[in-house]
Amino acid sequence: MDFHKPPHIVLLSSPGLGHLIPIIELAKRFIIHHKFNLTILAVTSQTSHAESQILKSATNSSLYTIIQIPSPNISSLLPTSATVSTRLSVTMRQAIPSIKSALTNTPLPPSALIVDIFGTESLTLAQELNIPKFIYVASHAWFLSLIVYSPILDKQIEGQYVDQKEPLKIPGCKPVRPEDLIDSMLDRNDSQYKESLIVAEKFPESDAVLVNTWDELQQREVKALTNGELSGVLKVPVFAVGPLVRQPESETGQLKKPVIIQWLDKQPRESVIFVSFGSGGTVSYEQMKEIAFGLELSEQRFIWVVRASTGGGVDTAFFTTGSSSFNDELDEIRKHLPEGFEERNKKVGLLVQNWAPQVTVLKHPSIGGFITHSGWGSVLESITNGVPMIAWPLYAEQRMNAALLVEELGVAVRTTVVPGKNVVGREEIASLVRNVFLLEQNGKRNHVRERVREIKISAEKALSQGGSSYTALSEVANMIVHKHRFY
Ligand code: UDP
Repeated sequence: MDFHKPPHIVLLSSPGLGHLIPIIELAKRFIIHHKFNLTILAVTSQTSHAESQILKSATNSSLYTIIQIPSPNISSLLPTSATVSTRLSVTMRQAIPSIKSALTNTPLPPSALIVDIFGTESLTLAQELNIPKFIYVASHAWFLSLIVYSPILDKQIEGQYVDQKEPLKIPGCKPVRPEDLIDSMLDRNDSQYKESLIVAEKFPESDAVLVNTWDELQQREVKALTNGELSGVLKVPVFAVGPLVRQPESETGQLKKPVIIQWLDKQPRESVIFVSFGSGGTVSYEQMKEIAFGLELSEQRFIWVVRASTGGGVDTAFFTTGSSSFNDELDEIRKHLPEGFEERNKKVGLLVQNWAPQVTVLKHPSIGGFITHSGWGSVLESITNGVPMIAWPLYAEQRMNAALLVEELGVAVRTTVVPGKNVVGREEIASLVRNVFLLEQNGKRNHVRERVREIKISAEKALSQGGSSYTALSEVANMIVHKHRFY
């Protein structure tokens, strides 16, 4: 190995934009701040139009090399009822031979391997190459604490977690209410629960864990993980390196403004609510009808990213988003919206099919609020643009995210959780939207709007030179350089 050359980091991303986007952002940080060479191994879903678009622009990047690894066919290995999370775990396991081949055939020898949370079984490949290995958790520290502590909860608690009367205690951290648990812990008999325990057991085998949050945002959980109650369980250092989020799409090479931005340009400042459920979230048609009525009742301007319902399911996300069969979906969706909805609202609302340039939208001065499924990427994009949220969790760890946003950070209001209730009614939607836009609440300035601005500044400080996240990433870079020199 030539020690004068900068280290070469290989980052492994599992299928789905919620995984690929954070990996690309982490790669950029290493390149811009540390001048490392970077290769991204992206296991692709091959069915998502949006994913292929992002991969296409990533492939043209002069900053890093991207190697696509098509998802292996796992259809014979799993029942059709298997959850997205189980499918991701099995896909990444079956892809290991291809990942190994890509890793050992990169033009530059790798100096370190960083995997996302579904790629932890590939850490053994780094072991074989004797290079440092890291896990990048593109979510927050409270979620990481729950994952790390889950093998202990597994021994402590009998029966289903969702049947517990008390919140689950995680030492040094905010307890987790049963109704806010992550999907993989909802049913201990499901294979996704067993898969999540396998992931948790892998954490101590890494050299360190990176997490997409920052010290000031989650002081208690970051402390518990780094030098508090959970450090003995995790056994390896944790670095809070976030918030790592994308830059606006329009600033990355597009010449003409998208229609959606042209429309936003014509709206008053902070007057528009943006409604979007992440890279693949869907709601039922019944729910879409309530959203439509709720938006009308709120009398607020809106942009709504609509997606054909998949029967009220919420998590077809990572394997079906934007496939070509969705081409006619706007016509299908229109059939389920209230009669005359589009016509009545054509001056104040915009429906966008499937996908919007979310970061550019959130950065636009006309945006004043965000109805979000609370995926962590969306949350960070909202915070870093100072946009208050209505948290509408659908799947994965989003119920925890919503609890964090509302109860700890005060940057969102939330749809109420009623067991067995599947549809949020129009009155509730309208009232939540009005609350976020009110300038004053009970004679006081709107708290969520104030708080999100404070937290935006805290995020900027963390990322700036000398800030906690800047320093944390430099420490990771040093670990890699040190090993690279003495290799
Ligand atoms: N996204 C986007 N346009 C859309 C929907 C989603 O650009 O119409 C991006 C969004 O900006 C974020 C990512 O897709 O970067 C979604 O990640 P998140 O963690 O919020 O949720 P997930 O999709 O993984 O559930």
